[in-house]
Amino acid sequence: MTAPSETAPRSVTILGATGSVGRSTLDLIAERPACYRVAALTAHRNAGRLAELAIAHRARLAVVADPAAFADLKAALAGTGIEAAAGPEAVCQAASLEADWVMAAIVGSAGLAPTLEAVRRGAVIALANKECLVSAGDLFMDEVARCGAVLLPVDSEHNAIFQVLRGDDRERLETIVLTASGGPFRETGIEAMRRVSAQAALAHPVWSMGPKISIDSATLMNKGLELIEASYLFGLPEDRIEVVVHPQSIIHSLVRFADGSVLAQLGQPDMRIPIAYTLGWPERIPANTPRLDMTTCRDLTFEAPDLVRFPALGLARAALRTGRGSPTILNAANEIAVEAFLAGRIGFLEIAATVETTLGRVVARRPNDLRQVAELDDEARRIANGVVARLAAA
Ligand code: NAD
Ligand code: MG
Repeated sequence: MTAPSETAPRSVTILGATGSVGRSTLDLIAERPACYRVAALTAHRNAGRLAELAIAHRARLAVVADPAAFADLKAALAGTGIEAAAGPEAVCQAASLEADWVMAAIVGSAGLAPTLEAVRRGAVIALANKECLVSAGDLFMDEVARCGAVLLPVDSEHNAIFQVLRGDDRERLETIVLTASGGPFRETGIEAMRRVSAQAALAHPVWSMGPKISIDSATLMNKGLELIEASYLFGLPEDRIEVVVHPQSIIHSLVRFADGSVLAQLGQPDMRIPIAYTLGWPERIPANTPRLDMTTCRDLTFEAPDLVRFPALGLARAALRTGRGSPTILNAANEIAVEAFLAGRIGFLEIAATVETTLGRVVARRPNDLRQVAELDDEARRIANGVVARLAAA
């Protein structure tokens, strides 16, 4: 693949175009519109927002996953020449449409089937949707290898490691170090954490993100999911992936080498920076992103994560060590628990408790194919829903 240019524009599809990552991607594309052609844009059910984006970026196709939003989408696109479609299968079809580059930015395991469609046609995929990798793990990576797809990590930590490792000696890599902001409750006592509101948990101190990942950042489950994501992306076992809390989020991750050198990638905490790296890959492109002023980052601090107040990180580490179906169960239970917390049904500390109880009740058999991943995911959701119902009634 060559870098996008006016003479060789890159065609792009964005799965999850109305979300935080999707919109940041379109903002970057709008900076150099002659270098990109938007093929398909997809969203869950916000037809109005999707239609606006499709018109502004002259997309060929716009797809809503929820069939109930189809009439609105069709009406909003009438006379524009942009094709409209709806339903989960239509989202998968959008992913399988020819495009040089696909942004996988649907949240949760709902992103698995469409991302796999892009994998199966050997696409270059900018991967933001970490849940699909956590849920399907080895099977997902096997499909990537079998189909010759290319994964470009979008998650800021993984993107940092990807940049650092480029052209470097993988043989001499010792460990990678994921940095974590620590979230809004880094300094909150455990008793107060029991009672925090969804609104407080959504208010991330550094990053501006969608609701699911914001809650995951507050529980540190996000770092747990990233630990598993890193293990699959970079082929490293659990004991070669460290996590350190770095509240300023300026250093996005580090790599330790066998000679004692540590390499890092730095930047302002703005997702447009890692997204721009994937949009230009294999070359860098100019981007109108905030610049780092070194004279203002005097206080870069680091501390070990507190696994007592943030047990989710320990649960994820254990799930990665156990392997088999554990990460699938962890991810499914967490999706149910986060939804229940956002709906005001369970308390903040009960998110990790729900995941832990579910992990204890579902046998982590190894899924042999993607159908078995879906079955295990369903079973974990059913058990987690039961756990949530009991907690909500208590
Ligand atoms: P978001 O909630 O802002 O957006 C999610 C997108 O997915 C929306 O376009 C939504 O319409 C679509 N969607 C939701 N449910 C769907 C369904 N069932 N079917 C089809 N489409 C559906 O989320 P986000 O913050 O942009 O995060 C997207 C992914 O990127 C997540 O997996 C997240 O972990 C990852 N990520 C996000 C950030 C960030 O800064 N926001 C950073 C790193 C990784
Ligand atoms: Mg991240």
